[in-house]
Amino acid sequence: MKTFDLFVIGAGSGGVRASRMAAATGAAVGIAESGPLGGTCVNVGCVPKKLLVYAAHVAHDVEDARGFGWDISTPIHDWAALIRSKDAEIARLNGIYGGLLDGAGVSLLSGQARLLDAHTVQVGEEVVRAEHIVIATGSTPRPLEIPGGELAITSNEIFALPALPQRVLIVGGGYIAVEFAGILNGLGAKVTQIYRGEMFLRGFDDDLRQGLATIMPTQGVDLRFNCNVSQIEQKDDGLHCTLTDGSTLVADQVLSAIGRVPLVDGLGLDAAGVRCAADGAIEVDAWSRTNVPQISAIGDVTNRMNLTPVAIAEAMALVQTLYHDNPTKPQYQNIATAVFSTPPMATVGLTEPEARQQYAHVDVYRSTFRPMKYTLAGREERSVMKLLVDRDTDRVLGVHMLGPDAGEIMQGFGVALVCGATKAQFDATIGIHPTSAEEFVTMRTPVQEI
Ligand code: NDP
Repeated sequence: MKTFDLFVIGAGSGGVRASRMAAATGAAVGIAESGPLGGTCVNVGCVPKKLLVYAAHVAHDVEDARGFGWDISTPIHDWAALIRSKDAEIARLNGIYGGLLDGAGVSLLSGQARLLDAHTVQVGEEVVRAEHIVIATGSTPRPLEIPGGELAITSNEIFALPALPQRVLIVGGGYIAVEFAGILNGLGAKVTQIYRGEMFLRGFDDDLRQGLATIMPTQGVDLRFNCNVSQIEQKDDGLHCTLTDGSTLVADQVLSAIGRVPLVDGLGLDAAGVRCAADGAIEVDAWSRTNVPQISAIGDVTNRMNLTPVAIAEAMALVQTLYHDNPTKPQYQNIATAVFSTPPMATVGLTEPEARQQYAHVDVYRSTFRPMKYTLAGREERSVMKLLVDRDTDRVLGVHMLGPDAGEIMQGFGVALVCGATKAQFDATIGIHPTSAEEFVTMRTPVQEI
């Protein structure tokens, strides 16, 4: 039987990082993976999504080009060609991940892993023993539990469709639903997005959500709030969807993007005595330890903050704790994140309601404007930028943006907030002209005060 100091279950972003960093300390490390290397992010998440966002954006660029004097006839998109290019890039990344594991001396075992007890894991036919086990199995799309729900696809399938569906119903109002509404609409599909509540992207800044909800219909997305799907039926002319607003809709595909659930099925958690929370996530303490001392868990399977860079941070902290005699808790404050909607939104720090709840006096600085590029392009979309400041200490509590390049712009402000930047320091920073980003250092008058 093979024995390891550390055995990691799941070769996604968190698992690969934990295994490589642990192996670098001289530990004997193994990792199990039943699918392609890289997990959700590389194969059916962040990476292919971003590539499709770029593809869809070309349609907008071509529209805008006319205002700059270009005469571009109506472009034709080839979905199959896009998917082929995307697949080649993902295969390249799978290879890089394999190379990284090899180079670090991590043993890769291909197959489904199951815990037999707190030190023993079965992978396919093989049984291995390990001093410590890390569960990093990620998450999987939440099933759409309505009659005909199985007819819907999820983000697992959408990247491999043979053709662009012409009529798409997107169910959900989170990251994935909003991102795919922009992608599929940009590529030429007729998109209807429904969200069960008053306003999608719950948890993001209200001005940004409202701003995006205003823009998307102008781009052609049929956006409906307070609406859900209650039944899907396959008929000759497509999927007949019954909606809770009383209407019906015929679609070629229904994309269900209603959240993700921790992937623990078949893992043998009971055999090892590992406890899960009510939401199905593996329960961990601040150091990613489960209730079983020899087993830790990181990433989406713990349902803390389900983002790739966070899983990686959790992996790094865990390796510090286990192999560097330096107990380290991952930090969850001031984590910048972006929704690659069209246009994108990005945020770091507190939202306005959070800031008001935690601080007595919050100043809000807001700017809405038409980006310079859109003047000649004739595009009416408005960007929104917002700063939240603690009046008592002058510390910037939150930075929010809706508009082109929001994700790229926000990363630097993430650094500023981690450094504890004050509004006076923002004001002392000279802007880069002409950019949208400079607006963040030129907002002088608070718009609301409490
Ligand atoms: P989210 O958790 O972001 O959103 C789920 C959406 O589905 C919410 O609008 C939710 O509504 C709605 N919903 C939940 N249950 C139901 C239901 N039964 N019927 C109808 N609607 C429902 O999940 P996603 O699937 O979009 O993405 C999963 C996670 O992956 C994200 O939270 C994020 O952590 C990560 N991700 C990150 C990305 C990035 O960094 N750019 C991109 C994609 C994913 P309500 O708000 O009312 O609960």
